[in-house]
Amino acid sequence: MPLPEHPQADNEQLRQVLAALQPEQWRQSLDRSGVHTAARITEETRVQIGQLLKDLSRGLDVLNLPFRKALQELLNYLAGKSFDSLESKQAVAKEIQEIISRLGLRVACPKEGCGLPAIIRCAAAGNSKQGVFQFDHSSSSGRRTTHMGSSTLPRLTLVPIPPDRRRIPTAS
Ligand SMILES: [Zn+2]
Repeated sequence: MPLPEHPQADNEQLRQVLAALQPEQWRQSLDRSGVHTAARITEETRVQIGQLLKDLSRGLDVLNLPFRKALQELLNYLAGKSFDSLESKQAVAKEIQEIISRLGLRVACPKEGCGLPAIIRCAAAGNSKQGVFQFDHSSSSGRRTTHMGSSTLPRLTLVPIPPDRRRIPTAS
């Protein structure tokens, strides 16, 4: 399957992100604001360091974008496919889950009316020994929920990982 084509703007963005990864770029910028090896970090210079970290974080999003697009294309291509065995479905679900986690993504739960960011897996369920794709996520009230998908690979849409409330410290 060919990878999706990227408009020229994306390539230019990629070039800028890669250029910004060169340490000379941020060293000069820090030097100009007086952040030397021996200097203490003041409130003012901390803001600048924070800005550099934000830029790197944004750059990471830009670098991830071509992978995200390619993966979405592949998932579209695989939608509705059936599999020989439970094991092969489980392997595919695991492989999809591994890459979406690395990209900081989830799949939208395909159950009608749900769409919550979910983790995909496949397990035998009820009288389906061949297994069904299942989607684990928190419900809107925060409870763990599993929604059953289909025996064939459902159409999957990539979505961002929701912020984990437990990991966000309360403002002090
Ligand atoms: Zn759901």
